[in-house]
Amino acid sequence: MRPLEFRFSQSATDHRRLPTLDAEIAIVGRSNVGKSSIINAIANRKRLAFTSKTPGRTQLLNLFVLGDEPARRGLMDLPGYGYAAGASKKAQASWQKMIEEYLLERDSLVMIIVLVDGLVGPTALDTVMLTWLRSHGLPHNVVATKQDKVKSSQRQKRGAELAAGCDLEPGDVLWVSATTGLNVDRLRRRILTWLGTG
Ligand code: GDP
Repeated sequence: MRPLEFRFSQSATDHRRLPTLDAEIAIVGRSNVGKSSIINAIANRKRLAFTSKTPGRTQLLNLFVLGDEPARRGLMDLPGYGYAAGASKKAQASWQKMIEEYLLERDSLVMIIVLVDGLVGPTALDTVMLTWLRSHGLPHNVVATKQDKVKSSQRQKRGAELAAGCDLEPGDVLWVSATTGLNVDRLRRRILTWLGTG
């Protein structure tokens, strides 16, 4: 399958300032979960999500769009949870408000991909996010990253553990690796289906 041709559109602190689309998926996870790597793998671009990591953008909503102008579909790269840890209470509160407002109010949002680290997840912050998404009835899908880092002898056990930690069945979790490309195509297909083009 061809890579999804996402390109960077715009960053903002307020989703209302971003272009209105017909459908959009959001991708969340704690910092270092492998979010940039998997976005780059989906698009087959080495530095696409690097844009979201440039100073000043790490704590913003970063919108990527798919296809030609006028773009109608997109992918929202939300800031990694860890980034706010060292920030002031006030900064943390405004950051949380930005993300919650986006998730609750964005009309075009059709699916939230929650990335969980395949080796160590779910972390406490992942379960807080999952509980919050469930409490608001927001559609989400758990994807476990860095599959290649889990020893093959441990994969079944780790798969069961990670899913149980997320309150899911093992079959509910898609395991991916940006390094080996495992299930990247499957994730692309799912994204296209969610966006209504697959
Ligand atoms: P982000 O902070 O969530 O955007 O995470 P990055 O994409 O920058 O990845 C964090 C670290 O994990 C980097 O050192 C990546 O090279 C590594 N990483 C990401 N995905 C994979 C993967 O699938 N396999 C392995 N082995 N390492 C990965």
